[in-house]
Amino acid sequence: MTLTAASTTATSFNLGSARALSCRECGHEIPLAPEFACPQCFGPLEVAYDFPEITRASIEAGPKSIWRYRQLLPVPTDVTRHPNTEPGLTRLIKADRLAAALGVRSLWVKDDTGNPTHSFKDRVVAVALAAARELGFSVLACPSTGNLANAVAAAAARAGWDSVVLIPSSLEQAKILTTAVYGGTLLAVEGNYDDVNRLATELAAEHEDWAFVNVNVRPYYAEGSKTLGYEVAEQLGWRLPGQVVVPVASGSQLTKVDKGFQELGKLGLVEPTPYRVFGAQATGCSPVSKAFADGLDVVQPVRPDTIARSLAIGNPADGPYVLDAVRRTGGAVADVSDEEVVEGIRLLARTEGVFAETAGGVTVATAKKLVETGQLDPDAETVLLITGDGLKTLDAVSGRVGPTATVPASSKAVREALAARHG
Ligand SMILES: *Cc1c(COP(=O)(O)O)cnc(C)c1O
Ligand SMILES: [Zn+2]
Repeated sequence: MTLTAASTTATSFNLGSARALSCRECGHEIPLAPEFACPQCFGPLEVAYDFPEITRASIEAGPKSIWRYRQLLPVPTDVTRHPNTEPGLTRLIKADRLAAALGVRSLWVKDDTGNPTHSFKDRVVAVALAAARELGFSVLACPSTGNLANAVAAAAARAGWDSVVLIPSSLEQAKILTTAVYGGTLLAVEGNYDDVNRLATELAAEHEDWAFVNVNVRPYYAEGSKTLGYEVAEQLGWRLPGQVVVPVASGSQLTKVDKGFQELGKLGLVEPTPYRVFGAQATGCSPVSKAFADGLDVVQPVRPDTIARSLAIGNPADGPYVLDAVRRTGGAVADVSDEEVVEGIRLLARTEGVFAETAGGVTVATAKKLVETGQLDPDAETVLLITGDGLKTLDAVSGRVGPTATVPASSKAVREALAARHG
């Protein structure tokens, strides 16, 4: 176990109902600390809780953001007294037109494009920032290729912290701008994402006050994804859906949506009805889908090659836990081609008016495939998690959509163009 300044000077942290860090492999527990690997077996640590009595009414009376669930997260109970972003409580829309197109009876779209930096990453970063402050850090950092960079730079700016965001120098201009605008330290590293990740782990060991959200405070960060599960249940009127389709990168989100559903059942906030969890990947980076299809418990790393860059993690840390959750609940993991991803984006946009990034295209297209293969029950109530905004991945649709016609400014020309379109 590394001794950081934070863990030697403070003996106990006020992280709400969080009680300890517990190893997911061997069950060993250590006190709450800025640690992420088990001192006994190096397995991943996760947050364990002693929950107080929590009522629906107390949650409903809370802020209109993830902070309404603060008693279920590893954050101080007075978390809203410190500046942070207020992600969450995004729309859950009844998607009847998409349901008809997919051939399912009851479908909902959880539209996480509505977060402060337009992806679900705002949820996990806000929780990481709140925990990192209590754990004694003062700089928010991450290695990223996009959504995480946006979320970290924005949350740090809001809190008045410096941020250190590491990106591959080859990253697209738009992603550089949408991070740099928040004014933190943005380091374009000469190398690919693997190099950037390695560098982050090295820097986390050297800089005691840098909280790399997805490295040294990962156990706290990961808990933020539970709020997607909580919100879906609350927005359905405090009940669990029959099926949920979740995009998989590292796999953290999927395992935490499952954890969130289980917690609500144990706390008596919902009936603990059975639900099935499905994972969605792009074929160009589908190590978890492949392991599922092959009946394996371990995930063989791959070299990603897909337009769904926000999901392109070739060696997913939570892959084995995704397989556990999916098999335990009777779900599946499937993958779709880049062509199907683009079709998924367009289908969601034209049926429901929601423009998703490539990860959303993966979710929609995978749901379609799972219905066609009979794995997704068309009669069970289903929720699709749409985790990022299409404005972030315009390249995916550019050249595929455009003006219906270019016409001179005359009504006759418009009539002709319309006739040509419908004729
Ligand atoms: C990061 C990300 C995910 C999934 O993340 P996990 O690593 O599996 O938790 C899904 N969608 C979008 C848009 C993302 O940025
Ligand atoms: Zn262990």
